[in-house]
Amino acid sequence: MFRVSREIEFCYGHRLLNYEGKCRHLHGHNGRAVITLGGDTLDDRGILVDFGDIKRNVEHWINENLDHNLLLCRDDPLLSILRDRGERVFVMEWNPTAENIARLIFEHAIEAGLPVVEVLLWETDNCHAAYRQG
Ligand SMILES: [Zn+2]
Repeated sequence: MFRVSREIEFCYGHRLLNYEGKCRHLHGHNGRAVITLGGDTLDDRGILVDFGDIKRNVEHWINENLDHNLLLCRDDPLLSILRDRGERVFVMEWNPTAENIARLIFEHAIEAGLPVVEVLLWETDNCHAAYRQG
C-alpha cells in the first residue's frame, strides 16, 4: 500500500465537559493535524493523491471552520451565551477532545472523497490522538 501525508497547523480553543484536568476551562492549543491517505494503485503520473487535493479539500475546510475558532460540545451551556454575544463557535456532536477532533477531520476527508486511512491530531508537541477506520 502507498501512503501520503500532509500536515496542517491550526489554532483552536476548547474546553471539555465532565473532565477534571486543565482542559475543563476555556483555553487554546496550537494544534497540528496529520492526514494520511492510502491506496494500492497510483495514477499514470505515479501519484496516489495530489498533495494539492488534500490542501483544497481538507486544509481549506480546517482554515474556514476550525482555525482560530472555539470548539465546543453541543451540550456545553456556554453555547447560548456565546451565540447571544455573536461569538464564533464550532459546535461538535461530542466533547472536543483531540480524539474527537481527529475523528471530525477524518469524517470530513471521507466526505470530500479522499482515501483517508488515518488522522492524527497533535494537541501539544508531546501528545496526539489518532483516528482510523476499523
Ligand atoms: Zn485542551
